[in-house]
Amino acid sequence: VKILVLNSGSSSLKFKLFKMLDESVICSGLIENIGARESLFSLSHQEHRINKKIAIQDHYEALCIVFDLLFEEGVLVDIAELYAVGHRVVHGGDKFYKATVVDESLIEELKSCIPLAPLHNPSNILGIEAVASKAKELTQVAVFDTAFHHTMPNHAAQYAIQASLYKEDKIKRYGFHGTSHSYVFKQSCKLLDSKTEATNIISLHLGNGASVCAIKNGKSIDTSMGMTPLEGLVMGTRSGDIDPSIIFYLHKTKGYSLEEIDLLLNKQSGLLGLCGENDMRMILQKAKEGNAYQLAIDIFVYRIKKYIGAYMAILERTDAIVFTGGIGENSEQIRELICEGLEGLGLYLDKDKNLNTSKKDLILSQTNSLVKLLLIHTDEEKEIAIQTKEVLKDLE
Ligand code: ADP
Repeated sequence: VKILVLNSGSSSLKFKLFKMLDESVICSGLIENIGARESLFSLSHQEHRINKKIAIQDHYEALCIVFDLLFEEGVLVDIAELYAVGHRVVHGGDKFYKATVVDESLIEELKSCIPLAPLHNPSNILGIEAVASKAKELTQVAVFDTAFHHTMPNHAAQYAIQASLYKEDKIKRYGFHGTSHSYVFKQSCKLLDSKTEATNIISLHLGNGASVCAIKNGKSIDTSMGMTPLEGLVMGTRSGDIDPSIIFYLHKTKGYSLEEIDLLLNKQSGLLGLCGENDMRMILQKAKEGNAYQLAIDIFVYRIKKYIGAYMAILERTDAIVFTGGIGENSEQIRELICEGLEGLGLYLDKDKNLNTSKKDLILSQTNSLVKLLLIHTDEEKEIAIQTKEVLKDLE
């Protein structure tokens, strides 16, 4: 029996088919540039690889193509082989705080969350509807990026604005990357051989989107993203934390429209805004003392250090700091820059171990380091498969 996991981004669709028994991957693929004139489709199944360029209008069409191809390629022979489909859903609003079986009312609720995640939730909903059109009886499960942070106490989740905006309008910090933070936390406990209910970590998910999460005794108690994924760290194209007054200044004094400011902060800021490049690999190659690329790295790293300090304070005892995501997993240089000067907090990076490029999860700190430093390879799709399996098992 198999579980299909679908991860719809704003213009992409990642999919992985898992064997349910051991969560091993049978087949995986990616469609990029959905909505553009030419979308890129790739699928790998055992030794077999397919790469195609075709026009794909939206996530509904993308999903129909994936479904058809799984049968054409013989990856699936009968729909009954599928136990369930697990979807990544970005924003669960204040209603959904654990993986949930999809029904009509869930779809309606998700539609009401669209204003909170305008880039992602519409494609997530289209994905769910497309699966229903292909296989009406198939069980679908929604796994929310926000769910893991549901345990955040009010003093972390509530903004210091009028309390009614929190109570009535649900304006609060929801946090994202929950499946990743939850997965790397469990993997960290395995690596440390420690109990989940007695382990405190700071999880640094550093990819194109980036967030930090403070996890105390297995529960998220704070995270850097807020009501939307715009708050917090410097990201590929998002600004992260700024003084909100900048928005009024841009609007009133510089004449920017609200749409322009939205675009500026979400798509034209972060690393891209600072140096014209959002790919960390390129930025590291081009960085020299005193140029804009170096400054972009400095600002990126500085913000992360500030969050580490803050989260060590609220955790009281930090067992480990975990690096994950494209940058966290692959850039020894960024990891070293982040740890530099934090010895006073009990963090001692082992520079040789830090150079290790194996695909394994590793401890990167010196043996005497009070706070362990870990490299964990995140796997959001696997976590979605696990949660899909668990929620259905609970219903049996
Ligand atoms: P997303 O948030 O889109 O899932 P990823 O987690 O794949 O992003 O991370 C993408 C980022 O990881 C890019 O900035 C990319 O340059 C960076 N990255 C990948 N490999 C390396 C590397 N070897 N060194 C530095 N940065 C890297």
